[in-house]
Amino acid sequence: MGKLIIVSNRLPVTVSKKKSKFSMQPSVGGLVTGVSSLDMSGEQVWIGWPGITLSGYSTKSDSQELKDKLSEYNYRPVFLKRNDFENYYQGFCNEVIWPLFHYFVQYANYEKSYWDSYKRVNEAFSQAVLEVAKDDDVIWIHDYHLMLLPELIRKKLPKVKIGFFLHIPFPSSEIFRLIPWCAEILEGLLGADLIGFHTFDYARHFLESVRRVLGYEHTLGQITLGNHAVKVDTFPMGIDYSKFSQAPDTKEVQLSISKLGENIKEDYKVILSIDRLDYTKGVPERLEAFDYFLDKNPSYKGKVIFIVVAVPSRTEVEHYRLLKEQVDNLAGRINGKHGTIGWTPIWYMYRSFGFDDLIALYSIADVLFLTPLRDGMNLVAKEYVATRKNEDGVLILGEMAGTAKELGEALIINPNDLQGTAKALKDAITMPIQEQKRRMISMRGRLERYDVKRWAHDFMDRIGHIKEVQKQLTSKGLSQSRRNKLLQSYSRSKKALFLLDYDGTLMPFNERPEKVKPDKELKDLLGSISRNSKNNLVIISGRDRKTLDRWVSNVSNGLVAEHGVWIKEKKSWETLEMLSDEWKEEIRPILEVFVDRTPGSFIEEKDFSLVWHFRKVDPALSIVRVGELKDVLLHITANLNVGVLEGNKVIEVKDTGINKGKAAMHLMSREKWDFIISIGDDWTDEDVYEVLPEWGYSIKVGFGPTKARFNLPSFREVRKLLKDIIETKT
Ligand code: UDP
Repeated sequence: MGKLIIVSNRLPVTVSKKKSKFSMQPSVGGLVTGVSSLDMSGEQVWIGWPGITLSGYSTKSDSQELKDKLSEYNYRPVFLKRNDFENYYQGFCNEVIWPLFHYFVQYANYEKSYWDSYKRVNEAFSQAVLEVAKDDDVIWIHDYHLMLLPELIRKKLPKVKIGFFLHIPFPSSEIFRLIPWCAEILEGLLGADLIGFHTFDYARHFLESVRRVLGYEHTLGQITLGNHAVKVDTFPMGIDYSKFSQAPDTKEVQLSISKLGENIKEDYKVILSIDRLDYTKGVPERLEAFDYFLDKNPSYKGKVIFIVVAVPSRTEVEHYRLLKEQVDNLAGRINGKHGTIGWTPIWYMYRSFGFDDLIALYSIADVLFLTPLRDGMNLVAKEYVATRKNEDGVLILGEMAGTAKELGEALIINPNDLQGTAKALKDAITMPIQEQKRRMISMRGRLERYDVKRWAHDFMDRIGHIKEVQKQLTSKGLSQSRRNKLLQSYSRSKKALFLLDYDGTLMPFNERPEKVKPDKELKDLLGSISRNSKNNLVIISGRDRKTLDRWVSNVSNGLVAEHGVWIKEKKSWETLEMLSDEWKEEIRPILEVFVDRTPGSFIEEKDFSLVWHFRKVDPALSIVRVGELKDVLLHITANLNVGVLEGNKVIEVKDTGINKGKAAMHLMSREKWDFIISIGDDWTDEDVYEVLPEWGYSIKVGFGPTKARFNLPSFREVRKLLKDIIETKT
């Protein structure tokens, strides 16, 4: 077992420099607890930005001193230039990703220089990782600052295990693709083996974006790219439950509670909200709802207080400054409107609190009132629940927070619904204690079970699992020894039969099938094989006769068109069976309707089959249409002698008496072959593998399930293999 390398934008430490000496204040956030609980026998290294930019440690000796100090904690700093840091962090992270991923589209600023810095900083992080990483390590990358990092590392260390976890929401694909560099970001992430999100919805949005932007499909959250499988899964991040549930008993917290008690009357109901002052948190909406609540329930005046803790955040960004002004004004206005000499309804604090005071606040609050407009998770909600040892207290939670998916027993509100939110406040304040307990007990149980340690373990287990899947994917790989055997057997043979599919096997796919003419390299390869008198090279394709005649007849010894309808061994085309095409009149109009309703699709008509192509169709729409079309066709074709088959981005309707396997059987029966190789890429080629003798070489291009004995990653490797065959002495 190798090392565990954690990579995050910030190291979990606050570095400061006083009188030319560095001092360190390690911070013990949830992530540190989760990661340090992992039972890894090897060493752990944490890589990240130390929190100050180059001017703070401009001399070499300074940066060395800082490096040495940090290495005591197994931390490795990534030093960033001030300008890069600003453009990457304040620019790309805070002004593009943060607003967009939280659906604040109007705040996004697509500045090219931000993107350039983002790339540069991700490069700098990859250098830092590559200085320490080895193939058997596990690298766990955190959050939206480092989305290009998985691919950058993967390029240099193809075998290493890489996990990526996103701590913020992943938006709907419609929002995500507004980013001019959305494809690069997705490619960057797909370098990982495992990509984790807080909720199922975020994972779903990500998969949809991958499909729409890059065109990669997935099966149950697994995207297969060559022999690299990426798993996308959900891991709702937990908190250090035992720490929070035990905290209220400590002397320090008790002291803080009694100090707070001196200022809060016994009979006050205390409503609390705590968050960074961020436009995603819905603070103005919350204050408005409280105002409305007092308007509608004047009997509560003088009986409730609302403690609003707003932690200063990103104060250098314009939108945050405006928000601060708005909240200051609102709090002032509401207090002015409802307050009396002896009672101030809103206790507004623009500051942050340390751990003990925070727990004290959680402990005295009858209601925790959180109304984020969008929030990846919201740990404050979980922390509140964990500290409620007496199992009382009510949580009001906006439905757009990731946490709402887990804490269904909270009073879930829509933060834009002023009346509904105010009503939830009333329900919370008047909720009977048994009801409070029923809800709280169930939420506490869940948070205790799936705490941050379990979260981290779960994530690590899944990385191990996806590596196993990848091993299986490559188990049919044409290793050197297998390849040597194949070449030996060819070299000893006297009569060799080549059954080669065309599209996807010898040529890559193109949106326009008519563009896939053979290039010079391919023609040379096929020509060399087919000119050797011991070989019989047959292109066995779904294409029509004319196309095959035009493109490959002079570099092959035989052709099979339309998946086995037509066969040409010498000069003329022949059919193997008596076929009819009368059924076409019934099927064509149906396909035409689907073409009209499905932009990007088209019909290809062959002698004994009709093909509906959907490669250019919006992937999400194509799933729906394929389902519909198959339904309609299966119904109609039930009493015709035709079958409906799904191929690579096509639905084909053809006579049931035909398949490539039958054509292959016919060709195999013509001679006494002592070497047969069949290479293909989709389900139509499976019929050929099936009829091959056991000693025959069947090879599938791609890594899906197959009856073929071996696989190759792409048409390029097929060409390499053919080249090796040509160069084999016979
Ligand atoms: N927090 C704190 N002091 C404060 C307010 C908040 O230490 O005065 C901590 C809180 O305990 C929680 C974190 O800040 O762990 C906020 O996390 P959350 O997921 O709620 O929001 P984020 O700021 O990450 O959007």
